[in-house]
Amino acid sequence: EDEKKKYVKGKKLGEGTYANVYLGHARHDPSLLVAIKKIKVQKEYRDGMAPDAVRELTHLQELRHPNIISLLSAFSSKDQNLNLVLEFLPLGDLEMLIRDVDRVRYGAGDIKAWMGMLTRAVWFCHDNYVLHRDIKPNNLLIAADGEVKLADFGLARGFADPGQRMTANVITRWYRPPELLYGARHYSGAVDVWSVGTVFAELIIRTPYLPGDSDLDMVRLICRAIGTPTEDNWPGVTSLKEYTAAGDVHPVADKATYMNRFGSVGPEGVDLLMRTLILDPRKRITAREMLEHKWWRTDPRPTRKEDLPRKS
Ligand code: ADP
Repeated sequence: EDEKKKYVKGKKLGEGTYANVYLGHARHDPSLLVAIKKIKVQKEYRDGMAPDAVRELTHLQELRHPNIISLLSAFSSKDQNLNLVLEFLPLGDLEMLIRDVDRVRYGAGDIKAWMGMLTRAVWFCHDNYVLHRDIKPNNLLIAADGEVKLADFGLARGFADPGQRMTANVITRWYRPPELLYGARHYSGAVDVWSVGTVFAELIIRTPYLPGDSDLDMVRLICRAIGTPTEDNWPGVTSLKEYTAAGDVHPVADKATYMNRFGSVGPEGVDLLMRTLILDPRKRITAREMLEHKWWRTDPRPTRKEDLPRKS
């Protein structure tokens, strides 16, 4: 209740699938701008949910890192809605830059800088036993100094699921790893690493790499582009709850195949990409191992954050 009094809500900034977002400022300091995200919670789930969610979110408030959006406060309003007070980041997100092909030019050094920031964010989450579960370009917000910040932790999302139909149509599954598509109940940081890999691919080709329009289509696209999961390349996969043998078995794509499509980041970049997209989550590179990869130290060096392309 006290948290709520610390901030003054202003005009509406935007509306997302799960939330309305308002500009706000600290009551004690009007120059301290914040974004207040009011999560839409379905009425039937509302009773008592917001206070629970607030408790669950307090540990995210302790997750402080330059590449993770700061959650300054969380409170439930009278109407039982969950409100998140976040760092104000008005320069848009990585998806806007990727899609604006006509006006936004970027190269290998820029991709390396953005990927470095994303990888450090994910490593920091995993090092603190937090999985993000919803990494995608639209959740990578850009700060005034050029820093990219991971936003929208899937946790809050879980409390605001607007129902089956919308879930199927709206939540993007393009960044979802095969183990989740196959219904694995035990999963790890490897789920986020896969998403990082698909964002890496998208930064290079400037279009989503695996834009499946259903879960089955996703599996088909992964099999065709990356390879069909089999007991050979992923022991145990055929026992997963939702495993489906989708038609022909495609061999796992080799380096030459990746070089054809993603060669602009060089052989080292392609090597890192391939390791993030390994089918068996146990063999996939970890965020920590990613940070030790040769690619970061190969030319071109990562662009300095103040020199990165931004929204025009
Ligand atoms: P979506 O994920 O569908 O974009 P969000 O609920 O995350 O929806 O955000 C809705 C809109 O609110 C965004 O498009 C953006 O314009 C704005 N917004 C969200 N978070 C922030 C923030 N931290 N700072 C400034 N604007 C924000």
